[in-house]
Amino acid sequence: MTLRSSVGTLYKLGLRKGSVESLKTAYLMLDGVCMFNCSYCTHASTVKNLSYLSRVLWPEVEDLSFFFERLAHSDFERVCVQVVSYPKFQRDLFELIERLKASNKAISVSVRAVSVDLVNELFKRGVDRLGIAIDVVNEELFRKFRGGNLLELKRLIETSARSYVNRITTHIIVGLGESDKELFETMVWLRDINVETALFAFMPLKGTILESHPRPSIERYRKIQLARFLIYRGLERAIEFEGETIKNFKWLPSDSYRAFLTSGCPDCTRPYYNENPIGPLYNIHSEELLRAMSNSLEVIG
Ligand code: SF4
Repeated sequence: MTLRSSVGTLYKLGLRKGSVESLKTAYLMLDGVCMFNCSYCTHASTVKNLSYLSRVLWPEVEDLSFFFERLAHSDFERVCVQVVSYPKFQRDLFELIERLKASNKAISVSVRAVSVDLVNELFKRGVDRLGIAIDVVNEELFRKFRGGNLLELKRLIETSARSYVNRITTHIIVGLGESDKELFETMVWLRDINVETALFAFMPLKGTILESHPRPSIERYRKIQLARFLIYRGLERAIEFEGETIKNFKWLPSDSYRAFLTSGCPDCTRPYYNENPIGPLYNIHSEELLRAMSNSLEVIG
């Protein structure tokens, strides 16, 4: 098993020296050579340097027993395991879940699930939440950038969400060529079937097929974050479209600045996962940072 950990997690566990963020989720990656070739992913089968996931460097955990011991004694509340789809990943994942259960943390697993059987098996083995990423919300772009059929994946998500109410999360990437309307409609559907949406801003990464594709503007990303926030509060009628594009918001709740916090499973903050620490921060990973930035945040309204 090749297990990697985000550096922030290692800092907090005292296994590396560095500035400690107030993380509640420990981030792990089960690594190998992926069977798929997503155009935006540093783990695609055609990319050479595999120790990154998105823009984050993931050092390998050298002493697994010591790592699990530190984890068990830490105040992390959740562990998130990102799983690369390498052959036989299931065997390693099941073993990892078994070892993680001893640490008494809630376990999130983010995996390219292809069957209900795998979903059932993971929950049976003690996973708290399952991340089944959509990534690309436009059907044609999904086929092009990710491969496979978006409608089939949506069927799997819906079936899983019916059996495991409020325990499924999906990842959506903003900025791959989709329209605001497509993001909006996908998030309304996800909300209606009780699936949580974790938003990511597209980040062009060296060595990937989309390394020259532009990032979404921060203004557009803020609008999509606000749309997500409103949708999950049942307030989507406040969103005004012009054609396929969000033009404005009729009104916004007084705490709408919270829309800019990282979204996803409870306590998931993913610090600097898809942004450079010098900014702009697409997902704001802490309440303190949000308060510090609140004066300068560009709120669309
Ligand atoms: S939302 Fe966060 S904790 Fe949940 S699966 Fe995604 S990265 Fe992991």
